[in-house]
Amino acid sequence: MAGELILIVEDNERNRRLLRDLLRAHGYETVESRTGEDALALARARRPRLVLMDIQLPGMDGEATLRELRALPELATTPVVAVTAYAMKHDRERLLAAGFDDYLEKPVDVGELPSRVRGYVEAAARGADS
Ligand code: MN
Repeated sequence: MAGELILIVEDNERNRRLLRDLLRAHGYETVESRTGEDALALARARRPRLVLMDIQLPGMDGEATLRELRALPELATTPVVAVTAYAMKHDRERLLAAGFDDYLEKPVDVGELPSRVRGYVEAAARGADS
């Protein structure tokens, strides 16, 4: 699954760099945006295999961005994983109910992230091939 493209949506530069460096170290291609608006344009242009989405963003937040992505036929089934500092159980349930495929908690666990991402990408590839 090396070389698969992952879109990172994150307004915090340190968090964005951490995700980028970690994913690239594991052989993924990455594209990044700081806002939901830019994420929509990038996703349409580049068709990522997976989207990692911060929730608190300037302008359109992560949940609104997800709704817009889901409304685009070409991106309706792309997995979108929330990356959030919200730790409360009801927040996690709310994110899943909003349509996110899963969530990753901040601070991101760098030991765990690669295997989680591999699982999302492999599941997406199976879905796309069937
Ligand atoms: Mn943020």
